[in-house]
Amino acid sequence: MSKIVVIGAGPAGMMAAITASENNEVILIEGNDRLGKKLFITGKGRCNVTNSKDISEFFNYIPGNPYFLYSSLYTFTNEDTINFFEDEGIKLKVERGGRVFPNSDKSSDIIKGLSKAITKCNIKIMLNSKVTRIIKNCNKITGVEINNSNIIEGDHFIICTGGASYPLTGSRGEGQRFAKELGHKIKELKPSLVPIEIKDEIVKDLMGLSLRNIELAIYENNKKVFKDFGEMLFTHFGISGPLVLSGSRFIKNNKNYEVIIDLKPALDIKALDLRIQKDFKKYINKDFKNSLDDLLPKKILPIIIKLSKINENKKVNEITKEERRNLVHLIKNFKLTVKGLRPLEEAIVTAGGVDTKEIDPSTMRSKIIDNLSFAGEVIDVDAFTGGYNVQIALSTGYVAGSSI
Ligand SMILES: Cc1cc2nc3c(=O)[nH]c(=O)nc-3n(C[C@H](O)[C@H](O)[C@H](O)COP(=O)(O)OP(=O)(O)OC[C@H]3O[C@@H](n4cnc5c(N)ncnc54)[C@H](O)[C@@H]3O)c2cc1C
Repeated sequence: MSKIVVIGAGPAGMMAAITASENNEVILIEGNDRLGKKLFITGKGRCNVTNSKDISEFFNYIPGNPYFLYSSLYTFTNEDTINFFEDEGIKLKVERGGRVFPNSDKSSDIIKGLSKAITKCNIKIMLNSKVTRIIKNCNKITGVEINNSNIIEGDHFIICTGGASYPLTGSRGEGQRFAKELGHKIKELKPSLVPIEIKDEIVKDLMGLSLRNIELAIYENNKKVFKDFGEMLFTHFGISGPLVLSGSRFIKNNKNYEVIIDLKPALDIKALDLRIQKDFKKYINKDFKNSLDDLLPKKILPIIIKLSKINENKKVNEITKEERRNLVHLIKNFKLTVKGLRPLEEAIVTAGGVDTKEIDPSTMRSKIIDNLSFAGEVIDVDAFTGGYNVQIALSTGYVAGSSI
């Protein structure tokens, strides 16, 4: 029986410990005082644990090294995730976009499911135990140093220390540092799924406004790099919300980017013009500033009115066809200039990490160090929102643990 040391008790580490324990003695080492601290805050405290789409569709939602994940996602699929939690007594439900959540809407239930399986597997858990150093002799790891003092020895080591975002959850990029010291290449750590800062002062007036059913496109030097439909939110520094987080993946800080929002994507130019004419008829004796209440959210009206360059006190029956055409264009092309991304610490996911070229995708074993494996966000993989990131952690953890 070999002694396996798993570092980090997020979804990847917990799953790796569970599968490794089938034929081995397992120690799960966690720096925090509890398991799954980041998992607890996922999905706004509800944990979007996976997605119900066919597993073959997952790769469309993984911009960061999808091919590397083929083997692990097909070995432990989203259906396996659902069965795993249901076997542990955690009922799940499917919501819009195939997002899977616990029935209870409590992420703690997902942690409970994993903890129950860990207890059954006789895994030794060491909490409040931060790995501070990895000890290597020739091309083999012999042990890990805990809290700068005692050494835990082992036969095989699995690094599951996560990315470097939300550092208060314990994921601080330490696994990437260890991997680098062990000779692995690290792809630069960058924020992925992060709010976007906007240059235009108008965002301050829009703070708190949440828009649903809009289309958002991102342009890099006038070339479209992202377009999708959904929800977004204005904040004191710029924009956030699911659509914005996904779009942020396509922004590199040093280029010129614009965000163009179609506030009425369900209506084409002609249909929107007809709709505005209908509203103008309804409010025929009103000033322009009081004519768009049925069309757009109240908070954005003063800005649209100002940007339209139509005098706000003009009677609607005096508005020209040309002015109306400009108004339609503005509503379908509400433009914001990107200042940059919020920092890595605020990102939902870290892009970059241990170079996938140096990891065997079917076992998660290092191609450089004989008795080392990786799983989860510590690797250079990242996905959009929708439950894909936790599924990646579980699938790679499953493969890492079962391939020793
Ligand atoms: C606010 C927020 C919401 C999110 N919502 C979702 C969602 O709903 N659905 C989804 O799919 N994804 C979501 N994610 C992303 C998802 O949480 C991560 O991709 C996932 O947790 C990665 O799992 P992991 O096991 O690789 O790493 P982590 O969950 O980060 O776990 C790593 C663990 O390793 C421990 N550790 C680190 N260094 C050491 C060390 N030196 N010694 C000992 N222990 C160490 C850490 O304390 C941590 O517990 C969200 C992320 C955030 C920040």
